[in-house]
Amino acid sequence: MTDRRAELTANLAAVRARIAAAAEAAGRVPADVTLVAVSKTFPAADVVHLLDLGVTDFGENRDKEAGAKAAEVGELAAGQPPRWHFVGQIQRKKAKSVAWYADVVHSVDRPELADALGRAAVRAGRRIDALVQVDLDNPGTGSGGSDQGRGGARPNGVVELAEYLADLPGLRLAGVMAIAPLEGDPEPTFARLAVLAEGVRGIAAGAVAISAGMSGDLEAAIRHGATHVRVGTALFGGRPIKSDHVR
Ligand SMILES: *Cc1c(COP(=O)(O)O)cnc(C)c1O
Repeated sequence: MTDRRAELTANLAAVRARIAAAAEAAGRVPADVTLVAVSKTFPAADVVHLLDLGVTDFGENRDKEAGAKAAEVGELAAGQPPRWHFVGQIQRKKAKSVAWYADVVHSVDRPELADALGRAAVRAGRRIDALVQVDLDNPGTGSGGSDQGRGGARPNGVVELAEYLADLPGLRLAGVMAIAPLEGDPEPTFARLAVLAEGVRGIAAGAVAISAGMSGDLEAAIRHGATHVRVGTALFGGRPIKSDHVR
């Protein structure tokens, strides 16, 4: 076993143990929490290691990197290809490209993007699971997503966007997503997301996903019902600091 493989094996075991402990503490079943391994900045070879180790879901946040990596993993991986999750902001003109490899998009935050993604998915002959990303950084007004460049719909616009999205061919409304504020306690954010998730759940069958929690706060997210945790650093190690990579 290579050093890198050993490192990823140990990190994965630790993350799985954290997820299991948090789920059990919350009276939930660990299998109800999907681990999305956020592989941004890390090579296709790492994805292949984790695939071998049983990880099925991978996340990326930049189209160019994600497209290239998905193609490379497709060539390298022997068995089942990963399920690719797109977790970053998407410019409308990139929707076409994202629709070719993304199975799940966590970051749908405006109708124009939903339109573009839906059209692209139809053209690609695919159906994409779409989550409405909510901006919960500014409790009063919502920032509309531009303040920190992290995206997200205003909380009071979530149901409307979810209803809109649920009617688009090419997309399947799958739930909601949020990123906790960089500073401070993530609990209030996850609690508010859980309330919004309830409002979205009734809109379409299967709109049950709550994507919340990262390396530093996955326990809190699971306590508040997260069905998908997006974990980068705790699995892969630290990333070089880069402005367009969240944290
Ligand atoms: C990078 C990223 C993550 C993973 O963050 P870590 O703190 O490294 O686990 C999760 N979600 C989004 C949207 C990201 O961009």
